[in-house]
Amino acid sequence: MSDRVVAVDVGGTTIKGAVVDRCGRFESECLRSTPTPTPASGGSDAVIAELQAVVAELVATAGGDVGAVGLVVPGVVDAIRGRAELSANLGFRGVPLRDLVAAATRLPVVLEHDVRAAGVAERTVGSTVGVQDFLLAVIGTGIAGVVQASGHHVTGATGLAGELGHIPVWPGGEHCPCGQRGCLERYASAAAVARRYAQAGGEVGLSAAEIAERAGSGDATAGRVWQEAVEALAIALATCTMLLDPAMIVLAGGLSNAGHALLEPVRQALVGLVRWREPPPVELSRLGGRAGVVGAALFAWQAAGEQDFGSWRL
Ligand SMILES: [Zn+2]
Repeated sequence: MSDRVVAVDVGGTTIKGAVVDRCGRFESECLRSTPTPTPASGGSDAVIAELQAVVAELVATAGGDVGAVGLVVPGVVDAIRGRAELSANLGFRGVPLRDLVAAATRLPVVLEHDVRAAGVAERTVGSTVGVQDFLLAVIGTGIAGVVQASGHHVTGATGLAGELGHIPVWPGGEHCPCGQRGCLERYASAAAVARRYAQAGGEVGLSAAEIAERAGSGDATAGRVWQEAVEALAIALATCTMLLDPAMIVLAGGLSNAGHALLEPVRQALVGLVRWREPPPVELSRLGGRAGVVGAALFAWQAAGEQDFGSWRL
């Protein structure tokens, strides 16, 4: 039986990959010194080619002894049929991604939704182990949420629960590609922070964490953009608090790399909005930006027959 799996998280900005052993130890995480940029502008074929190259390199890194490959992608995913039905950021429409990678590697492949994977990672080996009611906000290129209520993952009537990024926070605000206006994602995603900073005259190409750092060191434009992101996020989290009464709110994804520059102002803003009850504790994910790849590894290990993850220490 193999002692390794390959896990890959295909994001809108980067492809993160790792070889993971049976105890949850990561080898060659992020493959190269930085995660591989997703060639999203090249469309679906370019992204698939890059993904195949990353998987092949990881399988080779593992010496070919791999039990399964776990892939996670954003958008609408049919896990049963192994298809990436719709990922706007990646150009995927009805792509049979599982079978494409399985054909190239001759390995068992599991395809899952990235945010669902992050939720499984948090409650299996991350920040919410044993927590019955929580909201996980995964803030990267987009924003998505995982809701757990009374120990159950909330999917909704049509599977669309958790679309945190499209909560309208500013009526009449910025147009969102989803067709609404003033969506949280237009202000507080890592991509939105970078875009809004550049549009306001700031340097182009900085990460949200770098802009947060500038905000803390006196860059007024960065300060304004960051504050607007924090306020928008706090409004959405206050809404979720009133509706769900979570025991904990966990912030994950690329934006959480900003660390306390994100956490402290969000906590303060939430206290400012929620006046008649204690707001729930807001924490940074222990898994941070790698929750998706950890989830991909868990799915891969399950596909390889492993069910016990009690020894994982992340
Ligand atoms: Zn929207």
